[in-house]
Amino acid sequence: MKKWGFLIVLLVCGCVVFINYGSIFEPKVDINVEVVEYENAKVEDSGTADNTQKIKITKEQIYQGNLLLVNSEYPVRKEGVKSDVVNLFKRNELVKGYGVLYNDTYLSEDIALEFSEMIAAAEKDGVDNFWITSGYRSFDEQKELYQEMGSNAALPAGYSEHNLGLSLDVGTTQTTMAKAPEGEWIENNAWKFGFILRYPEDKSDITGIQYEPWHIRYVGLPHSAIMKKKNFVLEEYLDYLEENKNVSAKVEGKNYTVSYYPFSENMTIDIPKDKEYVISGDNMGGVIVTVYE
Ligand SMILES: [Zn+2]
Repeated sequence: MKKWGFLIVLLVCGCVVFINYGSIFEPKVDINVEVVEYENAKVEDSGTADNTQKIKITKEQIYQGNLLLVNSEYPVRKEGVKSDVVNLFKRNELVKGYGVLYNDTYLSEDIALEFSEMIAAAEKDGVDNFWITSGYRSFDEQKELYQEMGSNAALPAGYSEHNLGLSLDVGTTQTTMAKAPEGEWIENNAWKFGFILRYPEDKSDITGIQYEPWHIRYVGLPHSAIMKKKNFVLEEYLDYLEENKNVSAKVEGKNYTVSYYPFSENMTIDIPKDKEYVISGDNMGGVIVTVYE
């Protein structure tokens, strides 16, 4: 690893780095999200419901998608790694409005596009000094990092969200993210673009990871918005879905329904024919269907 100074090493490698800055930023955003939990109102299997289609769910789907939980209990499985991981340094048309610190920085192409959209919005707010300090890491790279940094500063291979391609570390050249306007902007606005601050300061007892103001994770809308509204980390959000089964959300004027299903052999799910939907596993034993109403 190149020697860029302590700050940069901290930003790049710090998946479990111990930092305990005080909370200097209080969220100041108006979160325009309405969330309603409801009883299962789906069309039953009557054989006549021609406005729905039956989608077969396979076991691998538990381990694929943007809502996968990765922590010390639930490691990344190979099938969960994003299939569209690209080298950002070589695909510089994807890199707009921010810098990439290392020429071997990889990320899911889809996530890179979402990230660029978020950075463009930050720039409009006058916050424009973002660097990606780490993106996707292969299991081998994670293993190397773990051996190099030790268990206080890195996670073992397969237990880091960076192994999915859905997470990235964001830094700024001026100061630490805990103090920078870039960190404050992300904390307040990332949810609008499908990103979450995965390891908030007040949830380390749940996540098992100390506050990491630089580590963001893509989950997509409306999930990031519901999590922000309800102050949930991913562990809490997935428990909430499992418990409630069906949730509808209105996020900045757009409607979504989110449904949780425990996986069982030969299962099928009824989905409206004319609606867009996304299926993601939770990496534990269930799948979540998000329908764009
Ligand atoms: Zn990270």
